[in-house]
Amino acid sequence: MPTYARLPLIPERGQGSWLWDREGNSYLDAITGIGVCALGHAHPRITEALHHQAQRLIHTSNLYRIDRQEHLADRLVALSDMENVFFGNSGAEANEAALKIARLYGHQRGIDTPVVVVMENSFHGRTLATLSATGNPKVRQGFEPLVSGFLRLPFDDLTALEEAAEAHPDIVAVLVEPIQGEGGIRVPAPDYLPRLRALCDQHQWLLILDEIQTGMGKTGRWFACQHHAIRPDLLTVAKALGNGIPIGACLAAGPAARVFQTGQHGSTFGGNPLACHVAATVIDVIEQERLLARAEQLGRQLREALRQALDDSGMVKQVRGQGLMIGVELQRACGELTTIAARHGLLINVTAGNVIRLLPPLNLSDEEARILVERLTAAVTEFARNASPVTTR
Ligand code: PLP
Repeated sequence: MPTYARLPLIPERGQGSWLWDREGNSYLDAITGIGVCALGHAHPRITEALHHQAQRLIHTSNLYRIDRQEHLADRLVALSDMENVFFGNSGAEANEAALKIARLYGHQRGIDTPVVVVMENSFHGRTLATLSATGNPKVRQGFEPLVSGFLRLPFDDLTALEEAAEAHPDIVAVLVEPIQGEGGIRVPAPDYLPRLRALCDQHQWLLILDEIQTGMGKTGRWFACQHHAIRPDLLTVAKALGNGIPIGACLAAGPAARVFQTGQHGSTFGGNPLACHVAATVIDVIEQERLLARAEQLGRQLREALRQALDDSGMVKQVRGQGLMIGVELQRACGELTTIAARHGLLINVTAGNVIRLLPPLNLSDEEARILVERLTAAVTEFARNASPVTTR
């Protein structure tokens, strides 16, 4: 079905930060399957883990204990300081689990119609509940009746939330991305998350952090909340967790970790031995190759290099982000840049209309970072040359 506007190129093979199409053209992959292949393509450790586990055991279902799942859960809990985990197969499923926990938590507190606060410009997935939580009206349009029980407020605005607390006694949770990804790599004020945590504590609301895009090292820490030394009640992760093997997880701590009882949630494929072994290997590789520090340092370097290189284009409003989650906001809508950049041998994404989104692999080399800047600058320069002048009213 035509659910995506696809570029016509057909990647056939990948190695590290590079993809090759059927004609043998090479592309530097600065979007990594939308923030998924954080270790690059065909990483030998991931290939080996897949091969090894596929020979041993792929799937048994959650009717039995799964050693690989228990091991991955232990690793994730240790990295995040959370307490337990539910495994699904995607980001949307991880968020569904979090939303179900929030509603049950509300009912346990005697709230019949629990409300979850969600943000403008947010993105949480394409299932009915997660699209209802999503801020972009285009994602919701046509799918009414939407799932009810969401209250939408501006992102990075605690005053709005304080006012809502007065007016809505049924609020049970706040769902937020630490940095909005699809919404345009929007980084909130540095004190936003700590103050949000305090507000949630004050009202006994669950803080649900959607770290599906920010998680697994992308921002230079395992999870973006760790830059602020806060722990959410629920934390969702997917994308880079499996480096391309579908897996999603909802981590819980405190009262949220004790909400689900047997029979209240499930998944046939969730937490299967193959996906869990690969994800545990992803964690090993990030640790052994010291990729958190690398993402932090390279991200800083890359943003500075992009600022300098793109300065002359007259097109750039702001270069922003954290670690290797980078947004370049242009003065105008720039969807066609994905095609222009691909012609220059660079794969990028444009989100929120005018924001170039870069999610390169954590193990991008210095030389590849240089090529990224060079090719993006060439693409933006070509785009600027062909664009009609920006008119301001
Ligand atoms: N949440 C965030 C922040 C995302 O960026 C995404 C995907 O882009 C999702 C949820 C949905 O994840 P999935 O496409 O794996 O269902």
